Amino acid sequence: MEDRFDVAVAGAGPAGAQCARDLAARNYDVVVLETESESAFPAQSNKSTGGTFPSMMASFGIPDDVVMEFTDNVVIESPNDHFVQQRSGAVLDFGAFKQFLVDDGRRNGADYRFDARVSKPIVEDGVLVGVEYNGSEAVYADIVVDATGPSAPLAKALGVSELERENQAIGVEYELEGVNLDADGYADLRKAMMLRLDHDMAPGGYSWIFHTGDDTAKVGVCYIQNDTHRQYATDGRGIDDYLQWWIDTDPRFESTERIEDRHHRGSAHIQPPGQLSTDGFMAIGDTVPTIDPLWGEGIHQGMKSGRAAAVTADGCLSASEPETSAAAMSVYDELWHTEVAPRMDARLLMTELLYLASNERYDRLLSDLKSLDEDTLAKANAGSKRHILKLLRPSDFPRLVTLARKRLRR
Ligand SMILES: Cc1cc2nc3c(=O)[nH]c(=O)nc-3n(C[C@H](O)[C@H](O)[C@H](O)COP(=O)(O)OP(=O)(O)OC[C@H]3O[C@@H](n4cnc5c(N)ncnc54)[C@H](O)[C@@H]3O)c2cc1C
Repeated sequence: MEDRFDVAVAGAGPAGAQCARDLAARNYDVVVLETESESAFPAQSNKSTGGTFPSMMASFGIPDDVVMEFTDNVVIESPNDHFVQQRSGAVLDFGAFKQFLVDDGRRNGADYRFDARVSKPIVEDGVLVGVEYNGSEAVYADIVVDATGPSAPLAKALGVSELERENQAIGVEYELEGVNLDADGYADLRKAMMLRLDHDMAPGGYSWIFHTGDDTAKVGVCYIQNDTHRQYATDGRGIDDYLQWWIDTDPRFESTERIEDRHHRGSAHIQPPGQLSTDGFMAIGDTVPTIDPLWGEGIHQGMKSGRAAAVTADGCLSASEPETSAAAMSVYDELWHTEVAPRMDARLLMTELLYLASNERYDRLLSDLKSLDEDTLAKANAGSKRHILKLLRPSDFPRLVTLARKRLRR
């Protein structure tokens, strides 16, 4: 007998688990195939700092007990300055959060299979009918969702995802104790999520300190290994070396120790989206470039994409004549561009401009931010080109030309 479901989801990350949660709540038969074993879950996939905001917690009913610390401020740091914005947030225990999504999905009736490594789609007579896992096992479904993050085995095989290595951002972080969160000469980082623009620590990217309670914090570095990174990088240094160098040289880490077994690492792609779905299939979360390119917020974005996929599947399967053609699935693409990641193009432009800038320009940007009203910053952050222009100076012109040339070459 065939193992049959309405929807088969590959990957139990925030995107896949949320999609399953929503579908199970609507009484669909949904199975989630997750490569990791249940006893250790999440191990390798426990990759995220887990910084998020109340809008995510409220929209998706996330309980407080997966929060390590509620924060009051977002701080942006440059080599010699800092800018504090009052904004409530939450630093999640990413592992506990992922486990909650699985448990809640199961409570609603979702079927979870761990130790299930998805390898390829099953296509019969040109029609996608299911998924192969662990080499020889199979599940069959009307709709298949790839939520495996950057590995994307189904999306790649179906020609949906074109994630490029040149656009892959890599990140690594440690959890530390003994951090001086209110050091002289620096912003007060108690109850704060801090992002630092400084090519010495993160060439072509950014580094961070997120408070996790008492004297503990998550401390990390990320960047894309592209031309900008190479321009600012020190020969022979890898990402772990940059993080260690920061910890060794910043006085805030003078008395710190690493918390055992609490380190996280992973990657995501920062690039324009291409195709997102095809007949009977949708790609969600980091399987397509859903993560916010500017500050790497991928949890909320991924969950919104999971919900958009669930809404699309519901529309397709609840029709009097269920239809899963590419045209029917394209509702997902529309939702993605309007609800999940609107104005992606403007945010990619801002990202490229920001990470091309020099350390001196970062200091100037922060002093400019202090003199601008909050509305300008909020609108620039939301991708308004008019407000982005307000953040530029005449000296940025050569960078704009470099960027325009790069975009034309592409
Ligand atoms: C170092 C770092 C820090 C970050 N910090 C933040 C942050 O502070 N805030 C924020 O919002 N975002 C952050 N992000 C981004 C965020 O974690 C991701 O965007 C988010 O996890 C994407 O969710 P996802 O479900 O698409 O993919 P993933 O979280 O990658 O989940 C994919 C799941 O699929 C499983 N899988 C993989 N391959 C297979 C296969 N072949 N078969 C079956 N299962 C498979 C994996 O084990 C995993 O469980 C960070 C990312 C990194 C790397």
